[in-house]
Amino acid sequence: MRVVRIKEDNCVYCHLCEVACIVEHSQSKDIIKAFKKEEKPIARCTVEFNYPVSLSVMCRHCEDAPCIEACQNGSMHRDERGYVVVNPDTCVGCWMCIMACPYGVIKRDNRREVWGLSTKCDACPEREIPACVEACPNEALTFEEL
Ligand code: SF4
Ligand code: SF4
Repeated sequence: MRVVRIKEDNCVYCHLCEVACIVEHSQSKDIIKAFKKEEKPIARCTVEFNYPVSLSVMCRHCEDAPCIEACQNGSMHRDERGYVVVNPDTCVGCWMCIMACPYGVIKRDNRREVWGLSTKCDACPEREIPACVEACPNEALTFEEL
């Protein structure tokens, strides 16, 4: 299984990974529509900055995932590819997974129809390479075998 590797030395705090994530998880997958015409999804990666260090933080798809353990109804689960994902149809927004994740990478969705449900990196199931990795101009994110 391949995972996103972070090379903080190459990150220049441009936030392009966040933009690419938002577009990838939008209805239209069009940057202008995603930002100005639709209910914008939240980025599932977050660029953290503490001079001179910056890096994009996202789910590590832990082998022994505390978020799966914390979820009482199986909404947080491992999919057929091996990635940890949440089922928005059954998530009740109790946020136990948010409290359990040691990396703080699960977010609350802020769109009206799914407000409060947990959302996180899903390793872009429709793509061969995650959108954040493809968008990074500096190879601060790479997609590599575990
Ligand atoms: S959400 Fe957090 S606990 Fe769950 S797999 Fe990702 S990094 Fe691990
Ligand atoms: S917020 Fe959703 S995914 Fe997280 S523990 Fe509760 S039901 Fe499970």
